[in-house]
Amino acid sequence: MSEHANLLRRHRAVMPSWLALNYGSPIEIVGGKGARVTDAEGNGYLDFFSGILTNMIGYDVPEVREAVERQLATGVVHTSTAYLLRGQIELAEKIAGLSGIPDAKVFFVNSGTEANETALLLAAYARRSDQVLAMRQSYHGRSFGAIGVTGNRAWTNISYSPLNVHFLHGADRHLPQFAGMSDAAYVDACAQDLRHVLATATGGDVAALIAEPIQGVGGFTSAPDGLFAAYKEILDEHGILFISDEVQTGWGRTGQGFWGIENHGVRPDMMTFAKGLGNGFAVGGVVARGELMDALHAVGLSTFGGNPIAMAAGNATLDYVLDHDLQANAARQGATIIEGLRRESARFPMVRDVRGKGLMFALELADPGTGEPSPPLAAAVMEATRERGLLAGKGGLYGNVIRMAPPLTLSDAEAAEGLAILTASLEAVHEAVS
Ligand code: PLP
Repeated sequence: MSEHANLLRRHRAVMPSWLALNYGSPIEIVGGKGARVTDAEGNGYLDFFSGILTNMIGYDVPEVREAVERQLATGVVHTSTAYLLRGQIELAEKIAGLSGIPDAKVFFVNSGTEANETALLLAAYARRSDQVLAMRQSYHGRSFGAIGVTGNRAWTNISYSPLNVHFLHGADRHLPQFAGMSDAAYVDACAQDLRHVLATATGGDVAALIAEPIQGVGGFTSAPDGLFAAYKEILDEHGILFISDEVQTGWGRTGQGFWGIENHGVRPDMMTFAKGLGNGFAVGGVVARGELMDALHAVGLSTFGGNPIAMAAGNATLDYVLDHDLQANAARQGATIIEGLRRESARFPMVRDVRGKGLMFALELADPGTGEPSPPLAAAVMEATRERGLLAGKGGLYGNVIRMAPPLTLSDAEAAEGLAILTASLEAVHEAVS
């Protein structure tokens, strides 16, 4: 048995069967530099998924490595968040300042799931209600609370949520009742639906709406312009809080706003974040209006949330994003790739949609004959890109979407190389199935 086959066997023996691995023959990544990684067999790849949006500014960035090494050199990996931690205060100050939320306060945790769990807890405490609004096709994490607000059958069918959740329409406008509607008419229909849900399906004392500005796991789908603004107006009338889940969309990734929700022209009451902030180190958190953060009358801390190593990585990564104006780079490189993909894929009937904003873009695959979502075609294109040296992520409600979110540091040459690999991969699969 080969070394690789043996590793896979050991994985299957001790890891859960639902821990999905990418690719028919999963890869062991053993090295990385910039936007590229190397596997144990010596193959190099352009990582167009940044790990899983974790390596936001690429691999082995000296500024991040040195900041972490400086902290390690003090002899303290972590003591306790019950002591004053300078790096934590500094990062909280930066995030509060960037948030656009008045009198903002920040609480650090270790993951997106915990961040959302905390935001929901804060909202429930502040509003003394367990009723929550969430979006269809959403994904917010793996805890009971976060699964409860996840509108995706893969998780929802096993959820016993402690929350009383009502799901709203957003990006799911392919339903027959919305066919042919203009954006304005759809927004109007959704707003009416929200009013109806509040009046008939809730006790009237709803704590919050939680939503992703662009749905990540859902397939990089977005509610049309104006929808969140229309929802926010109604939420404000009822004193319902708006939580923007920025786990995938934060830090300038979408190019048109530092936070994804800025694309919708809405100011949330709270935002949650994780994934890219530590550039591979686990950092998550919530930024919220101070009165909401302080409403939680409990003495609490997170043992590891905000630890000095995570904060060193977070401060160095965020400084790097700001110093190098990576939001502008995301806008520029993203526009080139999305435009290129639209141009090239016009020849491939299996590509149903090319969408995205900044360096968060996707290809949706459908059976050219029936128009039905096609997970096998998505898998075939994924394999083809891998063979040609590019890594991506699969997703979407039907598993037929190839999601891409390269490091925000992507260069012109890397963008061109990625586009060429994607085009050649589509061509190869197109030829194989035609
Ligand atoms: N929220 C969103 C939008 C996500 O995409 C994810 C993970 O993919 C999460 C929350 C959960 O984050 P984590 O896996 O760090 O718990």
